[in-house]
Amino acid sequence: MRYISTRGQAPALSFEEVVLTGMASDGGLYVPETLPEFSKEELADMAGLSYAEIAFRVMKPFVNGEIDDETFRRLVTEAYATFNHDAVVPLKQLDASHFLLEQFHGPTLAFKDVALQLLGRLLDHFLKKRGERAVIMGATSGDTGSAAIEGCRHCDNLDIFILHPHNRVSEVQRRQMTSVLANNVFNIAIEGNFDDAQAMVKASFANQGFLNGTRLVAVNSINWARIMAQIVYYVAAGVALGAPQREVSFCVPSANFGNVFAGYMAYKMGLPVKQFIIATNANDILHRTLAANDFSKKELAATLAPSMDIVVSSNFERLLFDLHGRNGALVAKLMDDFKVSGKLSVEDDRWTEARKLFDSLAVDDEGTCATIAEVFAQCGEVLDPHTAIGVRAARECRRSLSTPMITLGTAHPVKFPDAVRQAGVGEALHLPAHLSDLFEREERCTVLPNSLADVQAFVAAHGNRGKPL
Ligand SMILES: *Cc1c(COP(=O)(O)O)cnc(C)c1O
Repeated sequence: MRYISTRGQAPALSFEEVVLTGMASDGGLYVPETLPEFSKEELADMAGLSYAEIAFRVMKPFVNGEIDDETFRRLVTEAYATFNHDAVVPLKQLDASHFLLEQFHGPTLAFKDVALQLLGRLLDHFLKKRGERAVIMGATSGDTGSAAIEGCRHCDNLDIFILHPHNRVSEVQRRQMTSVLANNVFNIAIEGNFDDAQAMVKASFANQGFLNGTRLVAVNSINWARIMAQIVYYVAAGVALGAPQREVSFCVPSANFGNVFAGYMAYKMGLPVKQFIIATNANDILHRTLAANDFSKKELAATLAPSMDIVVSSNFERLLFDLHGRNGALVAKLMDDFKVSGKLSVEDDRWTEARKLFDSLAVDDEGTCATIAEVFAQCGEVLDPHTAIGVRAARECRRSLSTPMITLGTAHPVKFPDAVRQAGVGEALHLPAHLSDLFEREERCTVLPNSLADVQAFVAAHGNRGKPL
C-alpha cells in the first residue's frame, strides 16, 4: 500500500516514510491510496478479542508488511498495556441505547494517548532500523503536548520539544508535561500565546536549517499514523455492540476533524455506521460546514472545552479529498482559494451526499455545563466538558433510538475542573491513582522569550544529545 497526498503533487510514500513525514511537500495531507476492506466474517471474528488483537488486525493492512507481524504485535501490545483499564477503551451505558466510549484511561487521561502511545513506538522502531535520531517539535494548548511526551519519553532515538504558552495552560495539563524528567524531553514555556508557539513550530518545519540535517518529525494529527490508530476503537466499539449484524452510530466531540475522520475510515472499511454526529463548541466551523456548507474562518472563542478551540479544522481536507472523487487538483484549488478568501464550499451534490452520513451540532458553555449536571443527576457519571458536548449533540441529533449511539468520551473530567465546578459537581472529581501525587512531583521546564531565534538555538543545542533515563 502506498500513501498519496490530498493535493495530488507530492510523491507517493511507503508506510515507513509516511510515519516519518508530516505534511506532504505540496501542502496536502497523506492518505492511503486504496483502503483495505473487512468482510462481515472478518468483522464478526473480532468480537470478543482483546483490544490489542483488534488493533493488530485493523492496522496490519496499513503497515503493509513493512514491520514483521511479531514486532508489530509487540509494539501494539506495549502501547496499549500503558492504559489503566483491561478493555483499554471501555464502553459505559448511559441510557437504554446510548453508550460512552471512555477514551481517557491512558497515561495523560485524554483520547490522544490512543494514537500517541503507538506513534512514539513506531517512530522509534523505524529510526532504530535506519540508525537515525530525530527531533520532534510541537506546540500545545493542553492535551496533545502531554500525550506526545508520554508517547516518546522512552524512545531511544527521539528528542521531543513541546512549546506551551507560559502561564496559559491549566495546572494539571502543565504538570502532566513538566513532571516528566526524562533526558530526551524538553518543555519550553513561551512568553506569548498559543498562536505564537504554533507559529514558531510551523516556521521551524518550513526552514529546518537550524537542525543541521537532523530529521524533524511532526506528531500532530496530520500524521497519518495517528488517524490509523484511531480507526481501531471505532471497530472495537462497533463489534462489541453487534456490528456487523447491526448498525451503530457515533457522536464525536470534534475540532481538527482527526478523530471523526478515523471513524469515517472505519465506515469505508466495512463497519456498518448509520450516522456520525460531529459535536463542536462555539468554534463551530465543522457545524457550519455540515449545516450550511460554510467552511469559513471566524474569530477564535475561548470556551470551557479548550481542546476544541480551533479556527480551521486541518483534517477536513482529507474528507474533502474523498468527497470530491479523490481529485487532488480540485482539492489543491479549493485549498488555495481558502488561503486567499478564508472560506470554501463543498460542491453541492457532494455536500448533499455527506449529509446522508453526517449530522452536527454546536454546543455553547451553558449547554455544556447543563449537560454535565444533567448526566450526573441521571446516572452519577461526571463528564468532562468535551464529552458533555458530545452527549448533548448525540441526544439532540440522533436519527434512530434503536441503533446504538456511541459517544466518544475524549477526556477525563479531572483535566477540566473549571467546567465541572461550574456545573456544580466539582466535589465528585478525583485524580486517578497513577496521578494522585501529580501536585507534589518535581517539574522541569525552560521559559524562553517569544523569539524564534531563541527557541531554535535551544532546540539545536539540546536536540540529538539526549539519552532517555
Ligand atoms: C483533541 C481533542 C478533541 C478534538 O479532536 P480532533 O481530532 O481535533 O477533532 C476533543 N476532545 C479532547 C479532550 C481533545 O483533547
